[in-house]
Amino acid sequence: MLKTTIAGSLPKPAWLAEPRKLWPAWRAAGMELEQAKRDATLLWLKAQEDAGLDIVTDGEQSRQHFVHGFLESVEGIDFSRKVKMGIRNNRYDAMVPVVTGPLKLKGRVHRIEAQLARAHTARKLKITMPGPMTIVDTIADEHYGDKVKLAMAFAELLNQEARALEKDGVDVIQFDEPAFNVYLENVKRWGIQALHRAIQGLKCTTCVHICYGYGIQANLDWKRTLGAEWRQYEEIFPALAKSRIDQVSLECIHSKVPLELLGLLKGKDVLIGVIDVASDQVETPAEVAATITKAAKYVPLKHLYPCTNCGMAPMDREIALKKLEALVAGTRLARKKLK
Ligand code: ZN
Repeated sequence: MLKTTIAGSLPKPAWLAEPRKLWPAWRAAGMELEQAKRDATLLWLKAQEDAGLDIVTDGEQSRQHFVHGFLESVEGIDFSRKVKMGIRNNRYDAMVPVVTGPLKLKGRVHRIEAQLARAHTARKLKITMPGPMTIVDTIADEHYGDKVKLAMAFAELLNQEARALEKDGVDVIQFDEPAFNVYLENVKRWGIQALHRAIQGLKCTTCVHICYGYGIQANLDWKRTLGAEWRQYEEIFPALAKSRIDQVSLECIHSKVPLELLGLLKGKDVLIGVIDVASDQVETPAEVAATITKAAKYVPLKHLYPCTNCGMAPMDREIALKKLEALVAGTRLARKKLK
C-alpha cells in the first residue's frame, strides 16, 4: 500500500543543461549531447531507487521541455517560425511553433530513454507525455483551423508512441494536462475524449496529471487570484471518474484544494502531491505523513499513491534529491500510522 512515485521530471545536471530553468539550453550537441542525456537518465534512475521510490521515471532528462520534447518529433510543425502566444488562458506568453501541415510522427519519440530505463531498473517504470489539450494550448495552428480536430490529430500520434512504449516494457503512461484546470468546460466537451483516443488499445496503466503549474512567477500570481478554495477539480473530477483513465495525479500540499474533492475520483488511483515543487523548503517526513493521512479520509489506501505536486525540472538538484527522500520517509511513517 501507498506506493510512491513522482509527477515525472527531475532537474537536469549542470553538465547536461542550464540548471534551474524551465527552458534550459543544452550544454552539448550531437553525439556528446545524446550521451549526456543517457548518463543523466541512468543517474536519476539510480537516485530514485536509492531514495526508495516504487515507481520510477526517466526524469525527462532527454527533453528540453515537457510539451516541446514531443513536438520536436512531429512532422507538420514549423519550428523555424515561433510566434508569441498567450497560453493557459493568457496566464503567460510563450514563443510557440506553428502547425503548417498534416501532423505525422517522424519516428519514435522516447524509445532511447524508455528502453535504457527499462534495461536498468526492475522497478515499475513510468513515462510521461503531454496531453492533447495542453499541446493544443501550447502551439499555434495555421492548418487544422479547429482546436478539437487538432487535439484529435495529436491524440492519434500520442497513441502511436504510447503503444510503442508499452511494447518497450513501460508500466505506466502518463499524460500531463495542466490545461485541464483552465478550460473546465472543454475538458468535459472534448478533453477527456482526446485522452481516450491517446490511450486507445493500451493494456498498461494510464494516468493523467492535472496541476496548477510549476512554481514559476506567472503561476504563483495566478494562484493568488483563485480565492480561498480552489475548486477547479470539482468541475472535472466527476467526468474523470467515469473515464477509462486508471490514475489521476494532482496537486495537494500547500495548495488550497479542498481535500474532500478527492472523494469525487471514486474507483481511480489517486496520486496525491505531498511534495511542494514551488518551494525550496524540504518537507519533513511528519509533514508528508500528515498530508497522506488527511487524503486517506477520502481515498482508500489501496488507491492512494504519494507523489510530488508537479514536475521538479526547474528545481535545484540537491533540493530535489532531499525532497525525494522526504517523500519516501514520510510515506513509511504514514504506512505505520495507517495500517
Ligand atoms: Zn504539473
